[in-house]
Amino acid sequence: MRNFSKTKIIATIGPSSWDKNTIEEMYDNGMEIARINASFANQNEIERVTKTLREVSPRIAIMLDTQGTKLRVVDVNKEIRVEGKVSLSSANQSVSNSIKISYPDLHNTITRNTKIFLDDGTIELTVEDIKGSEIICNVLQPGILKPNKTVNIPEIDLNFPVFTEKDEEDIRTAIENKLDFICVSFVRNAQDILYAQELIKGTNIKIIAKIENRTGLENFDEILEKTDGIMIARGDLGVETPLENIPIIQKQMIFKCRSVGKPVIVATQMLESMRENTNPTRAEVSDVANAVMDGADTLMLSAETSTGKNPIQAVKTMAEIAKNTENVMQLTTIYGRTSCSREVDEICRSVAVLSESIPLKGIVVISDQEDTIGSITRHRPNVPIWSISSSISRIRQDLLYRGVKTYHIKDLPDDRDESTLLAIQTIYTHGELDLGDKIAIISGSSIKNKDSDIILEITTIKDILNQ
Ligand code: PGA
Ligand code: MN
Repeated sequence: MRNFSKTKIIATIGPSSWDKNTIEEMYDNGMEIARINASFANQNEIERVTKTLREVSPRIAIMLDTQGTKLRVVDVNKEIRVEGKVSLSSANQSVSNSIKISYPDLHNTITRNTKIFLDDGTIELTVEDIKGSEIICNVLQPGILKPNKTVNIPEIDLNFPVFTEKDEEDIRTAIENKLDFICVSFVRNAQDILYAQELIKGTNIKIIAKIENRTGLENFDEILEKTDGIMIARGDLGVETPLENIPIIQKQMIFKCRSVGKPVIVATQMLESMRENTNPTRAEVSDVANAVMDGADTLMLSAETSTGKNPIQAVKTMAEIAKNTENVMQLTTIYGRTSCSREVDEICRSVAVLSESIPLKGIVVISDQEDTIGSITRHRPNVPIWSISSSISRIRQDLLYRGVKTYHIKDLPDDRDESTLLAIQTIYTHGELDLGDKIAIISGSSIKNKDSDIILEITTIKDILNQ
């Protein structure tokens, strides 16, 4: 029986963690979802890591994070000190003695006084003048520029296709290997999500929108409407928007996601110092705890587990902080509408409230239908929600929601009573229930028929097991 925090943990897999033993240990310490960051992986690595993950457990959900279009400096071969004034130009233009940027014809798009950030915002420039294809900048914050570093120009709407050629190839690999989630990096609007959904049409894959630039932030509502889930990508967001806005944005986005019952991930630098150290800083502990108290479904580890020195310890620490924080949290009922019918939303809210007032040991959802889980978990009940489904991908994808535990029953009978018995037997034999426990069961009157009536039953385990 897995008994970690209700808040879920994504660990990014990289050179520090892609051997089988480390993955096993991370899984045994609370990792539920593994993320492969395509910025640092080619198709062979995606396949190899997926294979290892599936060997450790077919229950680990796997997320492919696309590289997306990120502007970078190109043709910089050694470290350059950037100070005073510098010249920039697009890589497709021939301007000598100039720092080249991987965006074509930037001089046509950019205007005077536009801010440009290099290396995740470490170096800050402002455009003084544009002479032909040369962009002359004043350096506001000097620094040392290394090869291949990032460029952010938050004030400009960059006109890129949402996926690069590499992204599309990576997505094909994800489809072939039956991955569970694909993250759309630098998403700008609902159109970008629709494009991604078109690419994965006919598969079970879920789309996660990474909110990490100004346009994505501005169009958050329309993106949320179309996507299956949201990642608050604080790394890039912290360059594209003033840093001090991040905590506020985080709270607002979590609230909006909960309103519609879609899962929300808080990402980047949560336990950053654990890349080197075995213990987190006080500020990091607070950050993790506050993300839990903000109501996030899932927390993400990036470099901490992919390239850091203490991947297992980072997962363990995050799970402990989350679990400790959850103990003090109260259920808060949410009144927005999810994509479920009003009837289902109302029943789910009632169940969440009943879980405290009766009280219940947990809530069992038997369904091959989507969305019911999101409609319950958004209220953040303090009891487990057991999701039972015959679809293994569905079971893995439900792991992204706070408080949801999953059991895969391959041949789930269509008859409600038979499937209920099987579900309860399964949870009971895993030691998660006692005969005297009271639970709520939500299911359709028929398990497979999407249009069947929803049934809510409150019962004790011994009545179902006839003991
Ligand atoms: P990345 O995305 O790790 O792929 O950059 C997350 C972020 O920007 O926070
Ligand atoms: Mn990013």
